[in-house]
Amino acid sequence: MSIHINEISDLEFRIAVNRVQTAILPIGSLEQHGEHLPISTDSVIIDYISTKVASEIQAFKLPVISYGISYEHKPMFNLSLQSSTLLAVLSDICCSLLEHGMKTVVILNGHHGNAGILQYVSQTMTEKILRDSNIYNLNYWQLMSDQFDHAGKVETSLLLAIAPNLVQMEKARPNTNQLQKSKIAYAAFGNAPGSFPRLTGNGVWGDPSGANVGKGFELLEEIISNIKSVIFELV
Ligand SMILES: [Zn+2]
Repeated sequence: MSIHINEISDLEFRIAVNRVQTAILPIGSLEQHGEHLPISTDSVIIDYISTKVASEIQAFKLPVISYGISYEHKPMFNLSLQSSTLLAVLSDICCSLLEHGMKTVVILNGHHGNAGILQYVSQTMTEKILRDSNIYNLNYWQLMSDQFDHAGKVETSLLLAIAPNLVQMEKARPNTNQLQKSKIAYAAFGNAPGSFPRLTGNGVWGDPSGANVGKGFELLEEIISNIKSVIFELV
């Protein structure tokens, strides 16, 4: 049986749900990732990670939600949902999954700007639904030892490993503004519209020049293994 829920029949689902009651729901974004990476970078990364995790822990894998909240990249390219819209979409999907017999939905998030709203999804469920089921959120970048970046060495290495055809290394450049503020000062911007290009200059956070395939696979192994460990703790 495929772990991809959209590739199986209703009958196959009804048989499988007797033993598989965990679903992995990936969410990414569509937003600028410098001149060398595609706008779908976060979605491509989290879709790949979700497929690996779901196949290794025997869970259903949902199609990736490519639309996230990325107003911080204005006026550079971003295709964004309002936070109330995204909350409604996630809540409806989770509600349907739980009604169809899932006991656990793990939302795997690939984009920083989505993180805030994810904590409210379970608050939209009825008490009855939540009595014997759970919705969990995991941000993949919190499950690796490297510092997260945006189109820098981490994301570029990940994409070189997952989809090298989508990377244009000859166009890779580091941030054009110096990033010298403290972490807490940067965090204070939250995800204010337009904050990202204002801070970084060119929309890149970090230096992609040292990115390579080996680093990408190393990161993926660490992230996938850590996500699996956390899910085993939760389920
Ligand atoms: Zn990204």
